[in-house]
Amino acid sequence: MNDFIDNIAWAHAQDRRDPLAGYRGRFHIPVTDDGSPTLYLAGNSLGLPPRAARDFVTGELDDWARFGVEGHFHGRRPWMPYHEQFAAPAARLVGAREHEIVYMNTLTVNLHLMMVSFYRPAGDRTKILIEQPAFPSDRYAVVSQLKFHGLDPDEHLLEIAPRAGEHAIRENDILELIAREGKHIALVMLPGVQYYSGQVLDMPAITRVGHEQGAIVGFDLAHAAGNVPLALHDWEVDFAAWCSYKYLNAGPGAIAGCYVHERFANDDTLPRFAGWWGHDKDSRFRMGPDFRPIPGAEGWQLSNPPIFSLAPVLASLEIFSEAGMPALCEKSERLTSFLAWLIEQRLDEHIYSITPAQARGCQLSLRLRRAERGKTVQRQLIERGVLCDWREPDVIRVAPVPLYNRFADVYRFVDHLEELLEQ
Ligand SMILES: *Cc1c(COP(=O)(O)O)cnc(C)c1O
Repeated sequence: MNDFIDNIAWAHAQDRRDPLAGYRGRFHIPVTDDGSPTLYLAGNSLGLPPRAARDFVTGELDDWARFGVEGHFHGRRPWMPYHEQFAAPAARLVGAREHEIVYMNTLTVNLHLMMVSFYRPAGDRTKILIEQPAFPSDRYAVVSQLKFHGLDPDEHLLEIAPRAGEHAIRENDILELIAREGKHIALVMLPGVQYYSGQVLDMPAITRVGHEQGAIVGFDLAHAAGNVPLALHDWEVDFAAWCSYKYLNAGPGAIAGCYVHERFANDDTLPRFAGWWGHDKDSRFRMGPDFRPIPGAEGWQLSNPPIFSLAPVLASLEIFSEAGMPALCEKSERLTSFLAWLIEQRLDEHIYSITPAQARGCQLSLRLRRAERGKTVQRQLIERGVLCDWREPDVIRVAPVPLYNRFADVYRFVDHLEELLEQ
């Protein structure tokens, strides 16, 4: 049972005693044409800018102007080891050791680099398991990897979907499929949080069962990083990758994170696509002909990183380090439960959540009972300054993000939705 009350005064009272309430002021909230703040519930799609991000970026532009090439060694945050600052805060975020983390490239690129090393079909063990419907980029990446190895996706791609009439994938269906197909599966690559339904998968169980069958297990954490508790190292996940622009608020196309378990830190039997930034730091500038990887995740880097794109990630990770995932998850749980509860109380005849209550982060995927109204409702929400996101054919995804959303936001969202749906 909960203590929720369907009343705006109650929502305001929750906000007044929220220990994380101050973080909202650390972000820019987009405004409507008349200058009033939007009701922003789209942090699962593009997180809001930390106010500090601008200073982090202009600071690097200033150091470039002041130091030129010497900025690699001088300045506030020298560029040569710049990416190393990410290891500690990101390790806390995903439950990893520092040398298991690297920030580089973007998500789909990192998935490919990981598959180059960790998808190694051989003999009867050739298949990749993903979910259905997977995020298109992930499916494209996996299918193209199969083809790269000369394998027919119709035969070697395994997809696990919710059962007919259901919206979440049954955890047991995943585990049973892995057990049944075990000796044919080379790679299990599933999401931490499924982007469409918002379902959190049981990452430790999937990893355990995948390993029992001799498969490699990697996760796409695009919707999980900064949203739900993660313990990648202890779960013994082999690799993971995530983008930084959703819950991690680091800006459109921001540089992405990547994790490789330490058991691979010095594994020189792994094939990999190499570049000079992955080369041993002490000898990199001897410019020798032979590649010697840095032990750990850093050894997968290709290029020297784009500092101006990394700078906002640092601004964001500092906020996560300060607030801490345990406190964020606690608020997230309560905020999202309040939203789910209000919708059930007031809007059940029009719309319902397809996100499993027992396995979710802060995203709710709301399904309209009359799908044909969806596009109109979505447009009308935007006209009212309510930003959330629409997924074909009939789902509105909303994410009350604990860093900058309030109980009152959730309450007002449900008011708007009720007015529109009861028209
Ligand atoms: C957002 C998202 C992506 C986006 O990939 P980019 O390479 O960052 O454009 C990929 N996969 C999933 C599951 C996502 O949620």
